[in-house]
Amino acid sequence: MRCRTPTSSSAVRRPSTPSGAPFATPSPASRASASSTTTSSSSAPGAASRRPRCPASPSTASPCGLPETSRSSPSASARRRSTEGRRRHTVLVAGGGMAGVEMAAAVADLGGSRVRVELVHSGAAILPELRETQPRLAARAEDELARLGVRVRLGVRLASVTEHAAHLSDGTHLPVSTVIATIGQRAVQVPGLDALRDPRGRLVTRSDLSVIEGVWAAGDSACVVHPTRGEPVPANALWAIKAGEHVGANLARTIRGRATRPFAYRGLGQAASFGLGRSISELYGIPFTGWVAWVLRLTFFLRFMPSRRKAAQVVGDFARRAAYSRRAHVSAPVDAPAAAVATARTA
Ligand SMILES: Cc1cc2nc3c(=O)[nH]c(=O)nc-3n(C[C@H](O)[C@H](O)[C@H](O)COP(=O)(O)OP(=O)(O)OC[C@H]3O[C@@H](n4cnc5c(N)ncnc54)[C@H](O)[C@@H]3O)c2cc1C
Repeated sequence: MRCRTPTSSSAVRRPSTPSGAPFATPSPASRASASSTTTSSSSAPGAASRRPRCPASPSTASPCGLPETSRSSPSASARRRSTEGRRRHTVLVAGGGMAGVEMAAAVADLGGSRVRVELVHSGAAILPELRETQPRLAARAEDELARLGVRVRLGVRLASVTEHAAHLSDGTHLPVSTVIATIGQRAVQVPGLDALRDPRGRLVTRSDLSVIEGVWAAGDSACVVHPTRGEPVPANALWAIKAGEHVGANLARTIRGRATRPFAYRGLGQAASFGLGRSISELYGIPFTGWVAWVLRLTFFLRFMPSRRKAAQVVGDFARRAAYSRRAHVSAPVDAPAAAVATARTA
């Protein structure tokens, strides 16, 4: 039986050989790959439990291709986990956009003193998009990262990752246990529409979100121009949802022989969290910080939950976290926050 390798954006990437051969090296092309938050964890506790589960095989090679000799016995792996549980882990987050900043903050906040977090960003300052319109909120985010003990390295890229280290473009080699890449996304391109794309591979839409007659585009693969700002809207879930709804409505109008309408949605805002009661939010251009921002962020988040049940679960999780946050600092596996973190970024 074949073991399916995880391909989702939160998949754990493990080295192909146990000897530390480079893996998941972000080439310029893969740096902007479609689903780009990947977690590489070579020694962090919990990593083993997130490997693809394979049925036991009587043969000497496992269905995943790992030789049986490379697997630890249950007692050995329990001993290893126990040792690792006492060690301080270094987590490197690549990418200083909204996802990377929230991820770094969440890992530092939930991991507490057991985790050291390094945030590597290629630009001159983190949160470049937010900084353009809300420089005070971006500065507040920097303060929050400093409070949480996150070390921010600017003007440097993650160049490659080996089993125990991350290698940066300035020649620095950092021993790390986990690497989380939040380094952007690229449009999935369908062959055949090449002439209709912008340089980033997105289908260029007209004001009603049609591309040419019979072709419509919305979401990450579309270049949708903001109705008032005149620049492409960000690639995030809110814009994808709103543009998708608009395409549906215009398609229905076209089928009924009516005129299409231009996409007029102007956006809502954006938010990031740095722990319970500590957030930055921008709603219709107005900046908020602290508890007000935190509640606004949660409201954004709940508003776009797929069901009320899911929303209730999220509220329950937050309530539990508030009640047991100190205990969570001690008992949470070091890479659990990276897997569990959910950002509520909207625009
Ligand atoms: C790790 C991560 C975290 C994010 N966090 C946030 C966040 O907190 N807030 C936020 O607002 N946004 C966030 N985003 C961005 C958000 O997920 C996207 O903007 C949004 O999902 C775009 O929706 P979409 O429908 O355009 O594309 P997708 O949601 O990617 O859906 C495209 C679908 O098309 C399928 N597909 C691809 N090629 C083909 C093909 N040839 N034929 C048929 N199907 C195909 C794919 O499998 C996929 O299911 C995040 C993105 C990532 C990667």
